[in-house]
Amino acid sequence: MSVTSDVAVVGAGIIGLSTAYHLAEQGLSVAVYETGVPGRGQSAGQSRIFRHAHDDPRLIALAVRAREHWRNWSEAFGTRLVSDDGALALGGTVPRRLALLRQEGVAAEAIDRGTLRELLPALADFDGDAMLDPGGGSIDTRAAIAVLRSRFADRIVAEQVISLHHHGDGVTVHAPTMLGEHGAVVICAGRGTAALARGVGLALPVRLGAHVRVSFATRGRVDRLPTLQDGSGAFGATGVYAAAYPDRSGYGLGLSENVAAHDDGAIDDGPRLTRLAAAAAEYVERALPGMDPTPRDVVHCWVTGLPWGDDGVAIWQEGRVFAVAGHNMFKHAPVIGEAAAAAVSDGRVPPGFTPDDRLGTAG
Ligand SMILES: Cc1cc2nc3c(=O)[nH]c(=O)nc-3n(C[C@H](O)[C@H](O)[C@H](O)COP(=O)(O)OP(=O)(O)OC[C@H]3O[C@@H](n4cnc5c(N)ncnc54)[C@H](O)[C@@H]3O)c2cc1C
Repeated sequence: MSVTSDVAVVGAGIIGLSTAYHLAEQGLSVAVYETGVPGRGQSAGQSRIFRHAHDDPRLIALAVRAREHWRNWSEAFGTRLVSDDGALALGGTVPRRLALLRQEGVAAEAIDRGTLRELLPALADFDGDAMLDPGGGSIDTRAAIAVLRSRFADRIVAEQVISLHHHGDGVTVHAPTMLGEHGAVVICAGRGTAALARGVGLALPVRLGAHVRVSFATRGRVDRLPTLQDGSGAFGATGVYAAAYPDRSGYGLGLSENVAAHDDGAIDDGPRLTRLAAAAAEYVERALPGMDPTPRDVVHCWVTGLPWGDDGVAIWQEGRVFAVAGHNMFKHAPVIGEAAAAAVSDGRVPPGFTPDDRLGTAG
């Protein structure tokens, strides 16, 4: 069997689906190859944090645009994709991040102990630096994947891309029972991106790791549940993040630490995933008395980081093949997909997204 289209996207995670959306908006025909279930790779789980705060001001500006896209998608698809509950951050980075946000025109504010308690009663008493990003909130990841996926239901090819190569003016794709002929290919295959890109001569400096996040239920109903990033260390762990379930019944919470993996996916210290899950439960016990510290659910995921920062992202190009890689990309997915689609139509990666731009450089 064969499949042809103007563009092929490899991977139906949030980045591949967003890219396909923007390509289709340009009137291009799109085929999306997906080896598993759409949204079950790095995009798995119930929620992600949408926050404007980043160390790289370019990512703040892109978050402003991405938020607008999320609003438009919510309206167009008739379902709220990002909550209005806000994003909270605690710890020493708050003053610097607040200054950067103000510089970019984002209305974030420093909050005192009492306001913090009102916004997140589940949190234990905290008297350090804290801020609220009122435009932040929790992304309903399953709804986001579902609405975008529904748009391409008949164009998702349930096959694994084994290899791809340039052929004449286009790109040939080899899959187990398919041969594809496309004008261009965008690789958005998560942990599979670097290997496919290497086949066309692109060396992506992706660092592979494994991550664990654990879900905890709120004690009783709450009407508002802002996201939380805690870098304060006040409760015995730093780099803790939490996003709310769409029904606000709990948090998906984890430590930002990952367990290193070799390029082929081998993990030397598997038990560390168990220890990190236990550390998450201990954090909830200390920091969130308004939540039950008994884990209710667990998500294990691959993560793909770039060397220049935890929020690093870039698009590589070799001829008519483009490859997207990075970490913490869910919130920016609408603008990353837009940039990848623009790369295809313009024949070059837009300024700001090339590897040399090192978008998402840590402060
Ligand atoms: C636990 C956790 C918490 C996170 N928290 C946040 C957060 O709060 N905010 C935020 O913005 N980001 C967050 N992130 C990061 C964010 O989720 C990811 O950056 C994003 O989901 C990546 O999406 P993707 O489409 O690039 O990859 P994926 O979702 O992994 O999609 C890639 C797809 O490609 C498919 N595929 C792979 N190889 C092939 C092949 N050869 N042929 C066909 N298909 C293939 C896979 O099956 C997969 O479905 C978090 C990530 C994790 C793991």
